[in-house]
This record gives sequence, structure tokens and C-alpha cells, in this order.
Amino acid sequence: MKRILLEVFLVAALIGAGVFGFMNQKQASISKTKITELTAAAEAAEKTVKEKEESIKAAEEEMQALQAEMAPLEGKANQLEAVKAALANGSTLSDLEGAYKKEKTLSAERQAGLGALRMLTKGAEDPGALEAFRKALQLSELGDRKNTICAAQLGLVAAGEKIKVMSECLPKSEKEGLGDKEDKDASSKDDGHGKGKGKDDGHSKGKGKDDGHGDKKDEKHAAPHWGYEGEMGPEKWGKEFPTCAAGKSQSPLDIKGPFLKSRMVVSADYKEGPLKILNNGHTIQVVVSPGSKLRIDGIAHELLQFHFHRPSEEKVDGKPMAMVVHFVHKNAEGKLAVLGVLLKEGNENPGIKTLWTNLPKEENVEYAPDGVNFNPGNLLPREMDFYSYQGSLTTPPCTEGVRFFILKTTVNIAKEQVQAFPFKMNARPVQALNGREILSN
Ligand SMILES: [Zn+2]
Repeated sequence: MKRILLEVFLVAALIGAGVFGFMNQKQASISKTKITELTAAAEAAEKTVKEKEESIKAAEEEMQALQAEMAPLEGKANQLEAVKAALANGSTLSDLEGAYKKEKTLSAERQAGLGALRMLTKGAEDPGALEAFRKALQLSELGDRKNTICAAQLGLVAAGEKIKVMSECLPKSEKEGLGDKEDKDASSKDDGHGKGKGKDDGHSKGKGKDDGHGDKKDEKHAAPHWGYEGEMGPEKWGKEFPTCAAGKSQSPLDIKGPFLKSRMVVSADYKEGPLKILNNGHTIQVVVSPGSKLRIDGIAHELLQFHFHRPSEEKVDGKPMAMVVHFVHKNAEGKLAVLGVLLKEGNENPGIKTLWTNLPKEENVEYAPDGVNFNPGNLLPREMDFYSYQGSLTTPPCTEGVRFFILKTTVNIAKEQVQAFPFKMNARPVQALNGREILSN
């Protein structure tokens, strides 16, 4: 009996042990799963932390880079704030405006400077700033002074005007930001252009302007992107200056009949003033002091400047003259009138002699020789009979709405004087009449 009990106990014990063992094993496998799960979770968490750390690090680096970029900008912003604060009381602006008020017309440079000062003093929304930049742009387009054109265009944009800024006026970073095509355009233009001294060669020797490139960084002397031959010649002007190609009343013209009878009365009242002469890279231009006028039916048109083309841009019955002088005028409404005097090879011209002996040595720098006065009237013939038509500036941007008066009487110029003109060829070809009428008095 004892033995049976012992056996029963043993069996029971064995079963118990088995069950215990089984239970244990089960427990173990559950724990194992749990551990695996927990490990995976821990690993995932670690990965997330790492990723977060990396992105924080990247953000930190970006911040540092931005700070490095901002540092000089901050300096500039501080300078600008200081300039604004110094001008805030407005007395500098009113002093300058007071001083300028005495002069009836202001140069493009002065207008641009006035616009900038107004903007700094009164803010970009000031209508006076806008007006000054507009005037600066009009005047500088006439005189083809790129730096001032850029100053005026950028000023207008800053004052909120939606105008197209010439690509060469854009700051470098903005140029790079343009699309591929435009970017290429801009750089190929840079290539095609004579800068600084190179350009001088291109013009005076009448060679391809490609000679002049290679000095891309010399932005200060960057020339407007047009010339009289090759890639920058008159046929290509329309790419950058659309009116030159699309305009329907462009100048110059081949003047031939039939003519309409003109009853307009035109007289020049030019005054002597200190000589200011400029080689703008396209022509020799004399900048005229205020006070010289062309009266058209009694309406005064202020003479702004006069300049030369070789040969004459206008033809009469298909024939050009040796050269032409264009006297550029503007009335109070902003309307332009050009008086053209054809120069014919013959005797020496004393007026031209004065001008040619005072030619500027450097391009784009106005030269005002001491004690030299000039009266533009010295270049006019006695007779004021004219042909007249509605036309445009004969240089980019080829703006239309310009009334032309080409005098029938020519003025002499010596062959040597023609040859001494620094531009061998600076005449735009004659343009289509497109139904315009040519008047004759
Ligand atoms: Zn001209």
C-alpha cells in the first residue's frame, strides 16, 4: 500500500513537474516575444532620435550659413537706416529742390539723384520720387546713358512701378536667378559687348565689337547692348528694344515726294553757353545748358543736346550726305522734336573745328573745357526751309512720337573734319514710310 501511495505521489509529482515545465516554457516564449517587440520599439525610437538629431544639425548649419550671409546685409541695412535717419527732417531735400528750382531743366543724373533723395526722405510711395525717376528715365534714354537709365529703372521698380528693367541693370544675383534661357542670353550678350577700352576700339575702327570683350567683370563700363553692325547691329535692336522692330513710324527716312504743304512756322533761338561734350560710345554729343529753344508754331521746345551721325541718317532722294547734326528738343508736355542739319563735304566748318578740338579723351565722361563757350546756332544755315515728318529716336529704345524737321539747306564740313569724327559709321538705315506723309514748306 505504501508503495502504491509512493508511486501515485511520484506520478503526480512527475505530472506536476511536466506541467510546471510546460508552463515555464510557455512563459519564457511569451517573454521572448515581448523582449523582441520591446527591442524593436527601442531601436525605432533610437532611429527617430538620430534622424531628429540630424535634421536639427542640418537646421543649425543652415542657420549658421544664413547668419553668415546676413551679417554684411545687416551692416548695409544699418547704414541705410543711418542715412534715412540723417535725411528724415527733410531739410536736405528741400535745400536741393530749392537749388534745382532755379534751373528750368535738370539732367537725367540730377533727376535720378533727386528721386533717390526723395525716396530716402519720404519713402518709396512718395509720388515726387516716382516723378523724378520717370523724368530721369526719359532724359537718360534720350542721351543713352546706361548707368542713369539703370538708376532710374531700378528706382521706379523700388517705388512700386511695374516696368521692365533692362537685363544689364539687374544685380548679378538676380541675373543668375533667371531661367536658363535668359541666363544664357544675358551672358552671351556680355560676351558680345565691348566693355571699357575694348568698345572704343570697336567703334572708332569700325571693327566687330567682339574685339572688345573678355573683361566681363568690368561692370562699371558696361555698354548698352547695341551698335551699328554685326550681332548688335540695327537688325538686332528689336530683341532688346521691341519698338525698334515693331514700330510703324520709325526714323530715319528717305525723304522724297510727293510732299504735303506744311504751314508750320519753325524758328531756332539758340544761346551761347559753356561747352559740355560727351563721347557716349555711339556718337559725339554736346550737352546744352538751359535757355536754347526751337519754336514750332510759337510753342517753345527746349534744346537738350545735339549729336552727329556719319554718314547722314536721312537720305534725300535716296542720297545720304557726309554727316548730319541732330538737335534734340523737348516741350513742356514732354513732346520731342528733332531738327536735322545735313552736312555736305566742302569748306571747313568753324563750329565743328571748336567741337573737334575739344573732343573728350575718355568715353562716357562729360568734358567741359575751361573757358570754351559754344553757340549751337553756329551750326545752322541761314535758311530754315524744311521737310517734316512724324518719326522716332534713331537709336534704341527707338521711342516714337518725335517730330522731325530736316532743313533743306545744307551746311559745309571739310573732308578732313568728316574723317576726324571718331565714329566711322553710326547711322541707322532708312526705315519704312508705312503710309506717313512727308511735309515740305
Ligand atoms: Zn541722332
